[in-house]
Amino acid sequence: MQILIGAVLGVGLGLYFHELGAQSQLVQEGVYAASLVGTLFIDLLKMVLIPLVFCSISVGIANLRQHQQMHRVWVTTLVFFVSSMAIAIVLALLAGNYFKPGAGLHLAMFDHAMQNFQAKQLPLPEFFAQFLHGLFVNPFMALSQGNVLAVVSFALILGIALVMGGNRYKSILALLEEGLAITMQIVGWIMRIAPLGIMALLIQLVAVQDAAMLSTLAKFVAVVVGTTLLHGVVILPLILYLFTGNKPLWFWQGAREALVTAFATSSSSATLPVSLRCATQHLKVKPAIAGFVIPLGATINMDGTALYEAAAALFIANLVGIELSMAQQLIVFFTAMIAAMGAPGIPSAGMVTMVMVLQSVGLPAEAIAILLPIDRLLDTLRTTVNVEGDMVGSLVVQKLVTRST
Ligand code: ASP
Repeated sequence: MQILIGAVLGVGLGLYFHELGAQSQLVQEGVYAASLVGTLFIDLLKMVLIPLVFCSISVGIANLRQHQQMHRVWVTTLVFFVSSMAIAIVLALLAGNYFKPGAGLHLAMFDHAMQNFQAKQLPLPEFFAQFLHGLFVNPFMALSQGNVLAVVSFALILGIALVMGGNRYKSILALLEEGLAITMQIVGWIMRIAPLGIMALLIQLVAVQDAAMLSTLAKFVAVVVGTTLLHGVVILPLILYLFTGNKPLWFWQGAREALVTAFATSSSSATLPVSLRCATQHLKVKPAIAGFVIPLGATINMDGTALYEAAAALFIANLVGIELSMAQQLIVFFTAMIAAMGAPGIPSAGMVTMVMVLQSVGLPAEAIAILLPIDRLLDTLRTTVNVEGDMVGSLVVQKLVTRST
């Protein structure tokens, strides 16, 4: 409840600051104070992130293997991630074809925005090679640099090695288990200041919005927000209900801490400590399953991002007056999925990997300069749905795996 109040107050104050204008002394000081508190909150979450991912995945794998469930959990998790992202992309393509946002606008109108922007080349084969190359890194370097993907893959391997070694490594496993428990305790403390942190982040976000760009792109924004909400409010809860029988309201109640944190931070990674806490403590997912599905999901399962990548590709195609054929839309489908999987869980990461989606069908990558000014705003909702997908995933996987044992 405190977090929700913090969020509402944050948006309210942000709007008030926006009204007053950036010149006002009060606004400058207010935004400065908000940035201090907001950054502190994110820093605290990031502080526990790496030890948490490391311990939770290795312990998760080790405990799953003891129950002979590892293979089934792996497969179910990956199938769930890919299917839910596929549904999200199809929604975006359907809505984009139907509403045609961007038709009626011209690229020339955005010359100013595009002038100072140089898109980096990101061809698919190179992106793939980079992604593969980034998977296996010296673990000490990955841990110290906060490289989540590489920490995830090392922790997976370590988890497997722990069970292969059986009793021989039981003290290392015990150490990791205690590491996990103690980090979760620290997460509990950090959550005490979450209402303030979330309020500060939202004040900052709303106060500095580019309202002019927002209204020019209103139709696109409406299509993206509408489909993202459809996916988050209807499709994911429906999947949850069909597979587990859990009611949406029960889910919202258990997950809201994480959802609001995702909205305010726009970062699945920073939210990970909170999502893990919601899944295990409120939604009662077994730690072994949540400890595996949620951190992996935070790095590769991004429904909101996948949806956005596809929607933006259609929007830019309309803007430059190119009608994408069925085959090209199929390419968008696949590249949007890869781009979403490859995007790290940090603010606006989806914008970087989107270059690849655009290039795959010959659209000008520079056009994302048009979307950059409104991206922080759209990122809030897509990150929330990204995180929601991970938590729904952990419940569905738990149900499917226990049902079949
Ligand atoms: N901000 C998103 C996330 O952390 C990634 C994106 O930019 O789409 O999940």
